[in-house]
Amino acid sequence: QYTWPKYVWMNGSIVRWEEAKVHVFVHGLHYGTGVFEGIRGYYDGGYMRIFRLDDHFKRLFRSAKILHMDIPYTLEDLVKATIDLVKINQFKNDIYIRPIAFRGLGSFGLRAKNPVDVAIIALEFGKYLKPDGIKCTISSWRKPSPDSVPIYAKLTGMYVLYHLASIEAALHGYDEAILLDSEGYVAEGSGENIFIVKNETLITPPVYDDILEGITRNTVITLAKEELGLQVVERRIRREELYTCDEAFFTGTAAEVTPIIEIDGRVIGDGRIGRITRKIIDLYRQVVLGRIKKYENWITSIAIE
Ligand code: PMP
Repeated sequence: QYTWPKYVWMNGSIVRWEEAKVHVFVHGLHYGTGVFEGIRGYYDGGYMRIFRLDDHFKRLFRSAKILHMDIPYTLEDLVKATIDLVKINQFKNDIYIRPIAFRGLGSFGLRAKNPVDVAIIALEFGKYLKPDGIKCTISSWRKPSPDSVPIYAKLTGMYVLYHLASIEAALHGYDEAILLDSEGYVAEGSGENIFIVKNETLITPPVYDDILEGITRNTVITLAKEELGLQVVERRIRREELYTCDEAFFTGTAAEVTPIIEIDGRVIGDGRIGRITRKIIDLYRQVVLGRIKKYENWITSIAIE
C-alpha cells in the first residue's frame, strides 16, 4: 500500500529505513507509554509545504509532559530534523510525517522512567478518507472520562480504543466511527474532530470535553470565523442532532476536511457535500498550499532538489 521512504530520523541521526529498529523489550511497546504526532506536507512544484509544524511539535511536548516524559531534544531540534529528513528523502508527492517518542529499554516496572527514544518517519501519503463523503456509525466503544485517561494528550496507548472503533465500523460496512463521550454526547471520530452545520452555524464539541484539541479543528474554526464570517459555537452535541443536522464533516491532519454524508442510515442534508463544507474544503486547500498570505506563517516551505 505504501512506498517506504529511504530514510528515517532516529535518536539524533538519519538512518536507512531498514535500520530504524527498536528492541522487543522497550517499555512503550508493552505499556503504550508513547506520544506521537501526525503532520502533513503538500508537494507543490519543487517545494514541500509543511502545515503547522511548530504547533504539532508543541502538542507533542505537551503530551510528553503529561506522561512525565522528557524528550531529549528541543522543539527547534525536531523541526530541523524534520526538514533534514524531508530533504534527504526527496519526496515528490504529498507526505505524512509521524514523530513519535516512547519509553525505551531499561526496566519493565510500570513506574520506570526509561530513556526516551524519539523517531520521525515521513512517507508519501495521499487521501485518508474518501473526499466525496463518507458513511459513519456511532461506535459501541465509548471515550473514557477525562479522569481515567488523559485524552488531551496524543498517547500511543489511547489508540487501542480508536483501533477497535475503526475496525468495528469497517466490519459493519461504514467508512468511519463516531465515538460518544463518557456522558453520551458526541465526541469525535477515531482520528478526527467533528463539526456539524445547523442554520449556517458551525457547531463542534468543546475542548474541555473528551476530545483531542485538533490542529485542523483550530484551523477550521479560525477560517470559518475570519474568512467566511460564520458563527462557530463550541458546545456539546447530542446524537440526534448529528442525525438531523444540515451538514457534517470531520477535520484532522490525515482526514483534512472530510464530508460526512450518512450517519447510521440517516442521510445528512441531501446526501452530497454541503455548501458550507465545500467552502471550507476549498479554503483549507488554499491555506495548506500557502496561497493565502495571512496564513503563510503556518507553512514551512522546503525546497526539494
Ligand atoms: N482526534 C483524534 C483522536 C485524532 O487522532 C486526531 C488526529 N491527530 C484528531 C482528533 C485531529 O487532530 P489534528 O487536526 O491535530 O490532526
